[in-house]
Amino acid sequence: MPNNKNGGKDGRGPGNGDDKSEGEGLTADSGFKGRRVTTCSFCGKSSREVGPMVEGPNDVYICANCTDLCQNIFKQERRRVQSDRPSIGSIPTPRQLKEFLDQYVIGQNIAKRALSVAVHNHYKRLTASEKDTAIEIDKSNVLLVGPTGSGKTLLARTLARTLNVPFAIGDATTLTEAGYVGEDVENLLLKLLQAADYDLEAAQRGIIYIDEIDKIGKTSQNVSITRDVSGEGVQQALLKMLEGTVANVPPQGGRKHPEQQYIQLDTSNILFICAGTFVGLEEVIRKRLGRKSIGFASEKNGEEDMQDSAALLEQVTAEDVLEYGMIPELIGRLPILTPLMPLDVSAMIQILTEPKNALIRQYEFFFTMENAELEFTDAALEKLANKAISRKTGARALRSVMEELMLDLMYDLPELNNEGVKYVLDAAAVDGRKQLADMRVVQKESA
Ligand code: ADP
Repeated sequence: MPNNKNGGKDGRGPGNGDDKSEGEGLTADSGFKGRRVTTCSFCGKSSREVGPMVEGPNDVYICANCTDLCQNIFKQERRRVQSDRPSIGSIPTPRQLKEFLDQYVIGQNIAKRALSVAVHNHYKRLTASEKDTAIEIDKSNVLLVGPTGSGKTLLARTLARTLNVPFAIGDATTLTEAGYVGEDVENLLLKLLQAADYDLEAAQRGIIYIDEIDKIGKTSQNVSITRDVSGEGVQQALLKMLEGTVANVPPQGGRKHPEQQYIQLDTSNILFICAGTFVGLEEVIRKRLGRKSIGFASEKNGEEDMQDSAALLEQVTAEDVLEYGMIPELIGRLPILTPLMPLDVSAMIQILTEPKNALIRQYEFFFTMENAELEFTDAALEKLANKAISRKTGARALRSVMEELMLDLMYDLPELNNEGVKYVLDAAAVDGRKQLADMRVVQKESA
């Protein structure tokens, strides 16, 4: 290795030495005039190309790129040792999975149970496939059907966290054939690979969530006129991916081009969770069941409407989804179909208050940091829930409703004397008819 003798000690980088740095004891670096050029003992690149290096004993040098690479290798190895292949004993039981989901997701018991069993079986299948089994267990990809903001993404995300597997989210409406604006199907795999820090084995056991699957390949009258996502190529690529294929993933993302090197990723052990809102599916189910609609939607109040819709969704079958217009090949590859229900007022209140990361808990925490307490009356919670429901975006609306309410209060909070003070928010406060100071109702004696 040329010039190694003149490297520096202790990784002293550029700017640490003076200009007369030809002598011993300095890290050689080409970026500065007069410095010696060193060569990385690992990649062979010179300090002219890759910048300063760290010197080890016996004239060994390493550049920043190679140390990064080493870090990644160590990380992957550590993960591999920790989580090797899941053994059957280490796969959580469906009950354990559901209990974990219960901590973050309110209600949706049908979906939780179906997902817990599906996921348990999926990972059991992975361990079984190693041994020579006579029976081949089918892949248990899942289709979640339910209104927007009802917890579909949250369920999938929470599952991935429980299982400690990489997780990626994609949107079926952005998938387009190569050459058009949008994403290739392989980009979904790239996202998963990135989530796994490029650990191919981990990625191959991960979970991919594909939203808006109901917008793909609708064959009935209501074909979307805004964008054709049902191009044959996309469908075929998606179908193959769901079933299990070895896909060529461009490591840099973007469009494929011939000279590019690909990472080969096997999708047969990836769990796909697809989801869609399937607007109007209730009508299809109602027709099949031969039930009459109880009056027009406008005549019913919101709560009745929701119960009606939940009762129908509970009975959803693959035939309904087919009738709705999904292509049979796609439904065939999503054997587990499970509905999520619209969230009613009590579910919304639970979402506000119960999960580990519940919004109200977060605001309570902010108040305790100012030595104050925060309390919501039942009427206030109900009002917040109803406000959110009227926005028709499910539990997603809770955040904006809460933020609108709390912004002014959080603005004033640090300026008040909060020592031992409790702020009680009632319905009038939720309507924005009160200042924070008016909510100061309990003054503790210690104050
Ligand atoms: P979608 O069904 O449209 O995928 P999401 O899962 O993305 O809805 O939900 C949006 C947000 O609403 C979540 O981040 C979560 O905070 C909240 N949320 C929705 N449903 C639930 C639920 N069942 N339990 C707890 N929080 C929920």
